[in-house]
Amino acid sequence: MHQFLPIAYFQNQFIPFENANISIATHGLHYGTAAFGGMRGIPDPENSSQVLLFRLDRHCQRLSQSAKFLNYELPARKIEQIIIDFVRKNKPSTSFYIRPLVYTSGLGIAPRLHKIEKDFFVYGLEMGDYLSSDGISCRISSWYRQEDRSFPLRGKISAAYITSALAKTEAVESGFDEAILINSQGKVCEATGMNIFCVRNGKLITPGLDQDVLEGITRDSVLNIAESLGIETIERPVDKSELFIADEVFLCGTAAKIIPVKQIETFKLSEERPIMEKLRNKLFAITENKDLEYKDWVYSVTI
Ligand code: PMP
Repeated sequence: MHQFLPIAYFQNQFIPFENANISIATHGLHYGTAAFGGMRGIPDPENSSQVLLFRLDRHCQRLSQSAKFLNYELPARKIEQIIIDFVRKNKPSTSFYIRPLVYTSGLGIAPRLHKIEKDFFVYGLEMGDYLSSDGISCRISSWYRQEDRSFPLRGKISAAYITSALAKTEAVESGFDEAILINSQGKVCEATGMNIFCVRNGKLITPGLDQDVLEGITRDSVLNIAESLGIETIERPVDKSELFIADEVFLCGTAAKIIPVKQIETFKLSEERPIMEKLRNKLFAITENKDLEYKDWVYSVTI
């Protein structure tokens, strides 16, 4: 069971988490007409009266963009302020995860986005490491990623997660830890809640944003950090067979951070992962506000 933070933001106010409940007739629950975000925060290891939020602005911007697909204007600045207030009210003392969600909150029947109320809520939970950092096994999912012509993949839309859920359960029930989804062009796309990278001959390769991937904020961070470390980065279509013979493969996302892959289907990958380790060490230092070069990626809230 998760340890939820005590205060939630719900229907324009801060209230106890247990009291933030919705009706069974809520429109968004029936049609998946919702979009969410997910961001991590930690108590500042150097100063107990500060909490550090990683890339707050980017997370709020992505949620604001997702809300547009729901026919809902939710400015990124407004989300930012609510999240800062949310952190001040909760005063978290361990590492945590913030889950903001926008949804069609009216009680109407029939899928639509016009003439239906929307709402925005935020809650949080304590979150340590999510998946094993020694490496996980992946299968190639029998479920394919949606394509942008039938689904707004530039948003983090709740309805899309049926595919992630099917793929994850299929992977776990067949003895793997995680699934890798293929896109409609038959190329590697991403995992169920993480983007994917591989390393070949010292170069860092990831599917481009035209490959139906989510515009992951950790993905963007990894590409940026790699460039600052002098590692060549390439965004291009990736074949499944390239993963099987890659020098390194890893997944990345807010909740999981950077997770190495040790096996894909029957192919075992090397346990030496020099590039992933460099990237992971730098990313961790940045999130703890120990890297001067990236100070502007960390928002410090005084609690
Ligand atoms: N892909 C999917 C499908 C996801 O749900 C996530 C998690 N938000 C990611 C990739 C990684 O995105 P981020 O680094 O922004 O958490």
